[in-house]
Amino acid sequence: MTERFTGSFTQQEPIPKDAIEAAVGVMRHGRLHRYNVAEGEAGETALLERDFAAFTGARYCLAVASGGYALGCALRAAGVAPGDTVLTNAFTLAPVPGAIAGVGATPVFVETTEDLTIDLAHLEAQIAASGAGVLMLSHMRGHICDMGRLMALCDGAGVTVIEDCAHTMGAAWAGVPSGRHGAMGCYSSQTYKHINSGEGGLIVTDDAELMARAVLLSGSYMLFDRHLAAPPPEAFEGLKAELPNISGRMDNLRAALLRPQLARLPDQAARWNRLYRAMEAGLGGTPGLRLIDRPEAEAFVGSSFQALLPGWPAERVEALLARCADRGVELKWFGAAQPAGFTSRYAHWDYAEPKPLPRTDRVLAGLIDMRLPLTFSQEDCAVIARIVREEVTRGQGLRHGASDGGADR
Ligand SMILES: *Cc1c(COP(=O)(O)O)cnc(C)c1O
Repeated sequence: MTERFTGSFTQQEPIPKDAIEAAVGVMRHGRLHRYNVAEGEAGETALLERDFAAFTGARYCLAVASGGYALGCALRAAGVAPGDTVLTNAFTLAPVPGAIAGVGATPVFVETTEDLTIDLAHLEAQIAASGAGVLMLSHMRGHICDMGRLMALCDGAGVTVIEDCAHTMGAAWAGVPSGRHGAMGCYSSQTYKHINSGEGGLIVTDDAELMARAVLLSGSYMLFDRHLAAPPPEAFEGLKAELPNISGRMDNLRAALLRPQLARLPDQAARWNRLYRAMEAGLGGTPGLRLIDRPEAEAFVGSSFQALLPGWPAERVEALLARCADRGVELKWFGAAQPAGFTSRYAHWDYAEPKPLPRTDRVLAGLIDMRLPLTFSQEDCAVIARIVREEVTRGQGLRHGASDGGADR
């Protein structure tokens, strides 16, 4: 009998009870706006900022309306102006170049390695060619590059690094939390990320001026003294008239949903990694399928899984996707000619006039991707892995079980 998978790749866990109760508490008193607080009350948004600053070890934190808003706000705070160029990964999600375009700047894409991280040699060449002063570094799908080398390169060239940590909340490189290597770190609390408030974003930094600018930009109505993780009022003095109010605040309802989830994130990350390792164990050694190496220094959160089909022609990948879908396994493919759902790639972003990037094209042509929601069990992962393994083996033109090309990692 042909094995099928019947679970849902997009079903997240319910919101935990204590988070629901906290949110209901906010609705009961009605003070949803972050600056609408009773005498002596801090407000859930300010408390979330305090909690998240502590979680990442940052001095300052600002909660905003979405991950994409966080990226745009960080770019503006860093002084990116219309007409500037901003370096970013060619392999990322549409809101990243979108945030760059949103401030009137132009994304300059950097090649992707077979480990799905930014190509540092190409980054060096693109810094020289573009003269860009900012890199928006996207830790796409949770893969973190050698941050020591990246920061040395950028510091040496005077390039400010803003980290897009939409997939690395709770992750670290060499013991330093993701988002804490560059000047600013940006996170998302959108439903498909690591904590879920539907929409939401967070920005962290140790730089008082950058944070003062971000707070004013986010729409603080000069109420910045109600923040618990912002610099002191003096830091805002010279800036108040200089920065536009571009409203994108978080509200107390979402913050209330997030605080109990943040407290659980380390446990959730451990659960995600058990699913990831189960998938890795099930797929390891499949002929024709190359898994992604996870470096020692990288403490990742395995909320999604990627693998490469090196050298597979598009028709063969498409046929594989169709066979897996028939068996209930929804693989996403970054090599498709047209953007679909959440999956698009740099060549689809015409507004940025992308130049061809052959290494990225080669990698993405064979890149398959799936979410690992926490509603999956390790047994679910084993079932999915068996299905993908059988279908890749079939696509590879080998009979299932005929060979164990265990070295192909
Ligand atoms: C989701 C995502 C964002 C933006 O987050 P939103 O909260 O959806 O705006 C940014 N970068 C990456 C890589 C993402 O996946």
